Amino acid sequence: MTGAPEFSKGVPTAAQRRPIPPFTDEHQQLRESIRRFVEKELAPHAMEWEDARWFPNEVFTRMAELGFLGLKYPEEYGGEGGDYVHDAVLTEELSRCRSGGVAAGIGGHIGIATPPVWKFGTEDQRQRYLVPAIKGAKIAALGITEPDAGSDVAGIKTFAERVDGGYVVNGAKTFITNGVRADFLVTAVKTTQEGGHHGLSFLILEKDYEGYEVAGKLEKLGWHASDTGELAFNDVFVPEENLLGDENQGFYLIMSNFQWERLLMALGAVGSMERMIVRSVQYLQERTAFGRPIGKFQVLRHKLAEMAVKHEAARDLTYHALRLFADGQDAMKEVTMAKLASQRAAFEVADDAVQLHGGAGYMKEYEVERAARDTRLGPIGGGTDEIMKEILGKQLGL
Ligand SMILES: Cc1cc2nc3c(=O)[nH]c(=O)nc-3n(C[C@H](O)[C@H](O)[C@H](O)COP(=O)(O)OP(=O)(O)OC[C@H]3O[C@@H](n4cnc5c(N)ncnc54)[C@H](O)[C@@H]3O)c2cc1C
Repeated sequence: MTGAPEFSKGVPTAAQRRPIPPFTDEHQQLRESIRRFVEKELAPHAMEWEDARWFPNEVFTRMAELGFLGLKYPEEYGGEGGDYVHDAVLTEELSRCRSGGVAAGIGGHIGIATPPVWKFGTEDQRQRYLVPAIKGAKIAALGITEPDAGSDVAGIKTFAERVDGGYVVNGAKTFITNGVRADFLVTAVKTTQEGGHHGLSFLILEKDYEGYEVAGKLEKLGWHASDTGELAFNDVFVPEENLLGDENQGFYLIMSNFQWERLLMALGAVGSMERMIVRSVQYLQERTAFGRPIGKFQVLRHKLAEMAVKHEAARDLTYHALRLFADGQDAMKEVTMAKLASQRAAFEVADDAVQLHGGAGYMKEYEVERAARDTRLGPIGGGTDEIMKEILGKQLGL
């Protein structure tokens, strides 16, 4: 993941190769410290948290203590003064924690819900929401999807009516990561009757506002440790100081946030693919059949080679997109391509890992089963594969 996956003996390890830009030796040090944390404090609990359908909120406070919730945020808000590339390291390393749900819950907070507060928030909003979020004292969620509006973001129906001193919000959100535990929700609402591209705005809603209800916790194929919530808003009064960004400019906020979300998903997929390859190599070396390690069967070696090529191709595209994004360039095309190339590939690699493990691959105790379920979300969440292709088709002039 530093540009030198630790696949097996004979392949250069991270220690022998220089990090691939935009990563530097400084990022490498951060990577090692996050990796130690993930291996010691997250991975050993993955199974327990998956079974419990929940990971403790203390994970956030512990990560805050270590400075990991605020890597890219300025020190004046309690952050570490780093940038997006530091968060990219964190995202790759979190994908080693053996639970897509834990990585998603943390990612929902750091990667998609707090960035708009930092980027578009007033000083007062940053103090009230970003500072406690970086401390792990308040947990955040991003609420865009609704029962009738997912890919078609412009179809959002939740309505915020202008009243004296603020808004009254009515509507519902669904599939919201951290939706059950979140103390505040950065959410998209209609602020004109028409809604759509020029009629959406963002509001910050607090869980204890009257009329804000966590209507359900959804059961899922994967990401079991994360809480995916359904939310209902019944005449929720939101003070006007909680308008995030300009009124009726919410569509642009959504689009700008998507870039980083999609890049994070690509980075997570790259990390997950590497992990699947490492696990498979180990298994192919250890497991014997017909008197030899199964890795001696050419067909399995070839499968592994294909997995490694998928990983490498997705990683190179993702790092390319990350370099452009971190450099402040327009990276829409590359980010979209990276998301598209990495998500289905990660699922296929996890599925291949299940196959290479035989019956063991279908068992819970081998993490490949979980990875196959967890990675299935990739081609759906954060914009489906079909939507990525639509974006690229338009970019190509159609
Ligand atoms: C576990 C999980 C966590 C999530 N977390 C969050 C979160 O934290 N916050 C949040 O706001 N959302 C979240 N989502 C929602 C997620 O972003 C949406 O599910 C996703 O964008 C797809 O929207 P949809 O489910 O409404 O599917 P739909 O839009 O109904 O799509 C159904 C199918 O139609 C296809 N389709 C739709 N439009 C087109 C088109 N124009 N051309 C071709 N095909 C099309 C889609 O690709 C898909 O195959 C989460 C979802 C899941 C499953």
